[in-house]
Amino acid sequence: MAFDDQAFRSRYRAGISRWYSGWLHLLVVAATGSGVITYSALQLQQVQGPEWLLIPLTLLLVNLAEYVALRWLGHRKPRLGRMFYSRHTGDHHSFFVATAMPFESSRDWRVVLFPAWLIYVFLLGLMLPGGWLLLQLWSANAAWLFVAAGIAGYLFYEVMHFSYHLPAGSFVERTPIWWRLQRLHQLHHERERMTDCNFNITIPVFDWLLGTLYWRAPATQEQQA
Ligand SMILES: [Zn+2]
Ligand SMILES: [Zn+2]
Repeated sequence: MAFDDQAFRSRYRAGISRWYSGWLHLLVVAATGSGVITYSALQLQQVQGPEWLLIPLTLLLVNLAEYVALRWLGHRKPRLGRMFYSRHTGDHHSFFVATAMPFESSRDWRVVLFPAWLIYVFLLGLMLPGGWLLLQLWSANAAWLFVAAGIAGYLFYEVMHFSYHLPAGSFVERTPIWWRLQRLHQLHHERERMTDCNFNITIPVFDWLLGTLYWRAPATQEQQA
């Protein structure tokens, strides 16, 4: 039996609290993220050459984390990933199927963005201990660069993923490379494919390295549908 994503959308929307505001959700994440990046940048003092390496290295680590989360947590039901599994496979993939990718109103952002509190868990659970370790082993600059780059990676994920679910005809579809990234995510949303390809949301570094990158040009009929 074909999956009825429209019926799922109606059920999901009916369950969203009337107090929910997509704009507030977006604002909390954007303000927290940019606040932490600005604060961290202001703590830097005479950064030494090798310390700058923490920016690309941390971004690569976040890229790996997004891959691991989507490949091994988002589509399986391990004890650890149960909450992520239910939000990702249960809600996100049922709400957005490959033929219905765009959100329709700001209330739908509830199922596009990570829950707002997750950025605090990310900060306290990963950035704080990682930064503390770098402070002990290396320097204060290293710690602040790690925190700033880690949160930038988190925001990058949110921005890119959000952009893939924008209403049809958005600037993304007309931007070189960006439209291809959107297409990769659309292919990940094909129900028979979500467990085996395109696990990266931002730049498909680990999909490429680990052989799970899948590309198919959009068919003309598909574009018209
Ligand atoms: Zn998605
Ligand atoms: Zn997925």
